Amino acid sequence: MKICVDRDKCTVLGVCEATAPDVFEIDDDGTLVVKTTLVDAGNRDAVEAAVTACPTEALRIGEG
Ligand code: SF4
Repeated sequence: MKICVDRDKCTVLGVCEATAPDVFEIDDDGTLVVKTTLVDAGNRDAVEAAVTACPTEALRIGEG
Protein backbone atom coordinates (compact mmCIF):
# COMPACT_ATOMS: atom_id res chain seq x y z
CA MET A 1 0.00 0.00 0.00
CA LYS A 2 1.26 3.45 -0.76
CA ILE A 3 0.29 7.08 -0.47
CA CYS A 4 -1.03 8.77 -3.58
CA VAL A 5 -1.24 12.55 -3.87
CA ASP A 6 -3.41 14.30 -6.41
CA ARG A 7 -1.27 17.37 -6.99
CA ASP A 8 -4.08 19.07 -8.88
CA LYS A 9 -6.25 18.97 -5.76
CA CYS A 10 -3.57 19.73 -3.17
CA THR A 11 -3.60 23.35 -2.07
CA VAL A 12 -0.59 22.89 0.25
CA LEU A 13 -2.49 23.85 3.36
CA GLY A 14 -0.32 21.55 5.43
CA VAL A 15 -3.01 19.74 7.39
CA CYS A 16 -1.33 16.46 6.50
CA GLU A 17 1.99 17.76 7.80
CA ALA A 18 0.36 18.66 11.10
CA THR A 19 -1.34 15.27 11.28
CA ALA A 20 1.54 13.05 10.13
CA PRO A 21 4.80 15.05 10.27
CA ASP A 22 6.94 11.96 9.79
CA VAL A 23 5.37 11.43 6.38
CA PHE A 24 4.43 14.84 5.01
CA GLU A 25 6.35 18.09 4.92
CA ILE A 26 5.77 21.44 3.29
CA ASP A 27 9.18 22.58 2.10
CA ASP A 28 10.51 26.12 1.98
CA ASP A 29 9.23 26.50 -1.57
CA GLY A 30 5.68 25.71 -0.47
CA THR A 31 5.70 22.28 -2.05
CA LEU A 32 4.28 19.20 -0.40
CA VAL A 33 7.00 16.60 0.09
CA VAL A 34 6.01 13.02 0.80
CA LYS A 35 8.96 11.65 2.75
CA THR A 36 7.91 8.06 2.28
CA THR A 37 5.16 6.78 0.03
CA LEU A 38 5.07 3.40 1.75
CA VAL A 39 2.26 2.78 4.21
CA ASP A 40 3.24 0.30 6.89
CA ALA A 41 2.27 -0.70 10.41
CA GLY A 42 4.34 2.12 11.86
CA ASN A 43 2.65 4.97 10.05
CA ARG A 44 -0.71 3.59 8.97
CA ASP A 45 -2.78 5.31 11.67
CA ALA A 46 -1.14 8.68 11.03
CA VAL A 47 -1.48 8.37 7.26
CA GLU A 48 -5.13 7.38 7.51
CA ALA A 49 -5.74 10.37 9.78
CA ALA A 50 -4.07 12.66 7.24
CA VAL A 51 -6.15 11.22 4.40
CA THR A 52 -9.29 11.92 6.42
CA ALA A 53 -8.13 15.37 7.49
CA CYS A 54 -7.06 16.64 4.06
CA PRO A 55 -9.62 19.33 3.23
CA THR A 56 -9.34 18.89 -0.53
CA GLU A 57 -9.40 15.08 -0.62
CA ALA A 58 -6.03 15.11 -2.35
CA LEU A 59 -4.70 12.09 -0.45
CA ARG A 60 -5.57 8.46 -0.75
CA ILE A 61 -4.02 5.12 0.06
CA GLY A 62 -3.70 2.93 -3.00
CA GLU A 63 -2.33 -0.42 -4.09
CA GLY A 64 1.24 -0.95 -5.25
S1 SF4 B 1 -3.66 18.29 3.69
FE1 SF4 B 1 -4.24 17.84 1.56
S2 SF4 B 1 -4.32 19.85 0.58
FE2 SF4 B 1 -3.18 20.09 2.49
S3 SF4 B 1 -1.02 19.85 1.94
FE3 SF4 B 1 -1.78 17.86 2.58
S4 SF4 B 1 -2.43 16.85 0.68
FE4 SF4 B 1 -2.27 19.03 0.24
